[in-house]
Amino acid sequence: MTNPATSDIDTSIARLRELIERATMVLPFTGAGISTECGIPDFRSPGGIWTRYQPIPFDEFMTSQAMRDESWRRRFIMEEQFSTARPGRGHLALASLFKAGKVTAVVTQNIDNLQQAAGVPADRVIELHGNTTYATCLDCARRYELSWIKDRLEAEGRSPDCTECGGYIKTATISFGQAMPEAPMRRAEELTLACDLFLAIGSSLVVWPAAGFPIMAKRNGARLVILNRDATELDNLADLVIHHDIGTVLSPFIAH
Ligand SMILES: [Zn+2]
Repeated sequence: MTNPATSDIDTSIARLRELIERATMVLPFTGAGISTECGIPDFRSPGGIWTRYQPIPFDEFMTSQAMRDESWRRRFIMEEQFSTARPGRGHLALASLFKAGKVTAVVTQNIDNLQQAAGVPADRVIELHGNTTYATCLDCARRYELSWIKDRLEAEGRSPDCTECGGYIKTATISFGQAMPEAPMRRAEELTLACDLFLAIGSSLVVWPAAGFPIMAKRNGARLVILNRDATELDNLADLVIHHDIGTVLSPFIAH
């Protein structure tokens, strides 16, 4: 006797394969769900770090050395998880589709650098919320490695300022209260309007303005696939909805 859940998922994967094969340009849009199998917590989920600590809003980071120190202290608590995480099956599948020419770029809400680690070039990963694996000066944009900041924080008891211009150094992420980055938002919009298959993966599609992209794609005539463990706000818009483990659904798309 066949397991109905298994045959359902096989049918969904076959349908996904068909949609990808028919598409000229597939645009993956990824959220936290693609990285949970890599040990990266979904910060917004119950039990996630943002439910244990109030996020530090951008204006408090800018006005208080104590808040900057606290922000860095929290970041280094998570360093073990970020520095040891390896790409999951979803990241590898998208990297395979990139190499096959089906995907030209990946738009992501994630800050974990795992899509790049899976082999998609950094300039083809459009990060709407930035990247937590390095830091930049908020004034001159000079890049800093986290290990240098950690050493300064430990040696001097305070997080360092930019050695070039004295500006504040922050992880290259977008904080609460910080403006969405213009260039990535614009590229994400262009890609959304250029694709004929929009693949929303592991995002609950509730965080705006990012959640507007699948709607924009659909209105522009693209097919929409939503792959997420749980139901999303936009399921009723999609041509195919798969509520299942992301790594399991995408692993058949990994080229070996
Ligand atoms: Zn600077």
